[in-house]
Amino acid sequence: MLNLVLFGPPGAGKGTHSVKLIEKYNLKHISTGDIFRYEINNKTELGIKANGFIAQGLLVPDEVVLEMLFNEMDKYNDVKGFVFDGFPRTIVQAEKFDEMLQFRKMPVSLVISLEVNEEELIKRLIKRGIETGRTDDTEEVIRKRFEVYNKQTKPLLEYYRKQKILHSVYGIGGIQTIFENICKEIESEINKK
Ligand code: ADP
Repeated sequence: MLNLVLFGPPGAGKGTHSVKLIEKYNLKHISTGDIFRYEINNKTELGIKANGFIAQGLLVPDEVVLEMLFNEMDKYNDVKGFVFDGFPRTIVQAEKFDEMLQFRKMPVSLVISLEVNEEELIKRLIKRGIETGRTDDTEEVIRKRFEVYNKQTKPLLEYYRKQKILHSVYGIGGIQTIFENICKEIESEINKK
């Protein structure tokens, strides 16, 4: 089983590369952001609750995210593995996730961290906001999301570095080149095992 966590700040390209990775390695894509947007569009109870946080650039509370994620994973029994995109985003999420995966005997295989500087990220997100109308891609909310990322999410780099499964990939340039570099990291980790 290949369980891949795609890690990086907002706008780093996690969604773009997830789509390519699931195709190449035949994995299931789980994007917590996409699930929330689906729930918001359908005005479900979960969606309404999550939107109160997302619209302000804040994280949805851990217990809400964890319950949703575990339910989502339960839908897929017979898969070769998952690409987790936008999860985990806090130390608590990562710890509970590890516990659950340990129980299921399917640990995180590797974490790919996409490295992109903040100036480039802000440019990308503002462009995405204009093109897609995503309401959290406005300058004010973007700034808040970075603040939250730096404070709550970035410490995960150290968490996974300690587990010796963290791989960094430079995330600026041609999409295909970046993708190939991600695949090289995946294959180096697979070949170790
Ligand atoms: P991006 O990576 O561009 O910031 P996402 O689509 O991954 O965007 O997430 C959008 C929003 O959904 C986040 O800003 C956050 O409010 C919420 N969200 C997504 N995943 C999580 C998570 N694992 N924990 C808490 N909140 C989350």
